[in-house]
Amino acid sequence: MRKTFVLLFALLFLCAAGRALADMPPWTYPLEPEILEDREGLLVLTNRSSLLSEDFVPRDLVVITARHINDIHGDMLRKVANDAVNRMFEDAEKDGCKLYLKSVYRAYSTQKYMYQNRLSKVGRDDGVVAYPGSSDHQTGLGMDILNYEWTKKSGMTPAFGTEKEAIWMAEHCAEYGFVIRYEEDKQDLTGIIYEPWHLRYVGLEAARYMKEHHLCLEEFDAEWRQYIQDWEAAGGDFRQLLRDRAAPSSVSVLYVTDDGEEELSIELDD
Ligand SMILES: [Zn+2]
Repeated sequence: MRKTFVLLFALLFLCAAGRALADMPPWTYPLEPEILEDREGLLVLTNRSSLLSEDFVPRDLVVITARHINDIHGDMLRKVANDAVNRMFEDAEKDGCKLYLKSVYRAYSTQKYMYQNRLSKVGRDDGVVAYPGSSDHQTGLGMDILNYEWTKKSGMTPAFGTEKEAIWMAEHCAEYGFVIRYEEDKQDLTGIIYEPWHLRYVGLEAARYMKEHHLCLEEFDAEWRQYIQDWEAAGGDFRQLLRDRAAPSSVSVLYVTDDGEEELSIELDD
């Protein structure tokens, strides 16, 4: 009697979960919903109209371990980005490209200081130093990477894009989860000049997708948000979808009978 009751309860639960998924329109976006859920915060968008707050400090910052210029010794990146940049530098070197980190995580207060310095120097916002809260460097996922020759120059210009190291990065960075954050033909969307040295970690799947479709982060962000909005308007429920997909593939019920303990396992077919 008790066994029958437990079994019935478990089956009812499974039917309910199955029906929730079946009621939703199919998920057809090329990336898995978990990528867009972005629990790791890899897709954070920052620009002049999407500012990070003053107290936004990325999680799991670690001291950089890849080759870098002396000025930034002891500076930090998020751990995922630091791991990825190490892998990329190793492979780049095998292809004859020696890369150097030039600038990594920058705190809000540092950016604010730099911005105010630039303002007092040139008397206006000339777009050279990002507005506080709008810098990709504050995410802990953005970084400037140069070759040796360019680390000796006082500034960076789009001319770096013709160096073999920059060409290598544009070609291969997505294989390590990076994108060139400020592309030459996306300046009207990013609000930033072409920066072939500024790479941004977004994770492997997103980087590959953005490269394949030649999307800047602003476009990608708008595209997937629109997809979810349309998909929900058609009857989907993004949070419910994530919950359903996270549900276990089988349910085990332990129960006690007069003969002792028994375990009942029910496989869930999706
Ligand atoms: Zn940069």
